[in-house]
Amino acid sequence: MNARFTLLPGDGIGPEIVTQGRLVLDAVASRFDHTFTYDTQLIGGIAIDETGDPLPAATIASAKESHAIILGAVGGPRWDDPTAKTRPEVGLLGIRKELNLFANLRPVRTQPALLDASPLKRELIEGVDILFYRELTGGIYFGESTTSDDGKTVSDAMTYSEYEIERIVRMAAEAARSRRGKVTSVDKANVLAVSRLWRSTADRVMAEEFPDVEFETVLVDAMAMHLLSRAKDFDVVVTGNLFGDILTDEASMLPGSLGLLPSASLGSSGPGLYEPIHGSAPDIAGTGAANPLATILATAMALRHSLGLDDEAAAIEAAVETVLDNGLRTPDIARGGPAVSTSEMGAAVVAEV
Ligand code: NAD
Repeated sequence: MNARFTLLPGDGIGPEIVTQGRLVLDAVASRFDHTFTYDTQLIGGIAIDETGDPLPAATIASAKESHAIILGAVGGPRWDDPTAKTRPEVGLLGIRKELNLFANLRPVRTQPALLDASPLKRELIEGVDILFYRELTGGIYFGESTTSDDGKTVSDAMTYSEYEIERIVRMAAEAARSRRGKVTSVDKANVLAVSRLWRSTADRVMAEEFPDVEFETVLVDAMAMHLLSRAKDFDVVVTGNLFGDILTDEASMLPGSLGLLPSASLGSSGPGLYEPIHGSAPDIAGTGAANPLATILATAMALRHSLGLDDEAAAIEAAVETVLDNGLRTPDIARGGPAVSTSEMGAAVVAEV
């Protein structure tokens, strides 16, 4: 297969980790006989420095022509001036909007070799394998804000249309079919009208279109507890923007390190955007201490979700697991023990692939 990737290294550790992601993609291409080509473009702070715009037109054009986009991270203290005309994050929100990426996927899997790195007890996290589908372009983060004349009362509207709920529930249910076949929809239907629409729509889509998929609904407050007490019981979890934002951050603590978790943002067609969930880690940029595994696992998601290359994705995931089983650790997961550099960790995954 011929596939084209747009690489957006961005700021801080972004260039170091995206380089490792690319090397792993090259290894996959050579093992499975594919041709992957790459176009590297600017986003975030470095794009502001070089063009004045955190999302230059050339970046959008390249992204739209690609099969998948691999992003490092954006931002850093250099661009934090609150009076600045624009900010690095504008580039990230902008590209999601340009590509209509309404579904944010976050797999949360504990790595057997790293069970002791989690702040939670081993028996609670062993075997956890959840795939979150968070709605990304609707809900309260995009609702109208109003402020009273005296400035003392403020409101943000939480709005969802049936169509927005249907499309993300469908995407989640389809994913469940190729996993353990279970979907959990999270809402607050006992209080919020918008959640009652969410629940009735999810109930209908699941009953009419996915009778083969096990389905349950859970209130968001209960879900916050279940993630800490019985995370193993969940397969695919689908929820709105606000609840998803909070629950996925909570769940990211299960595996114990930010440096291990990838995410994907998808639309109904067109390229997806794949990135680690962590930021640009300016405190360690340029020191060779960045863990590249979240970005490497993001490339696996790109192969699976944008290119349909399941075996290739699984090969990357297995390589990461083997490397960790063999005891290789970057400083963030070494717990004070011996550690390897960003490029040594990347090279070990390449060798396994
Ligand atoms: P961060 O995720 O960058 O870093 C938090 C801590 O985790 C730091 O100590 C960092 O060194 C460590 N860390 C993060 N990724 C790591 C990795 N791969 N390997 C080893 N250690 C790692 O969060 P922050 O410090 O709050 O934010 C730094 C900058 O990143 C800010 O400008 C923020 O706005 C930006 N940010 C960007 C994104 C994104 O691009 N999607 C997401 C979050 C934060």
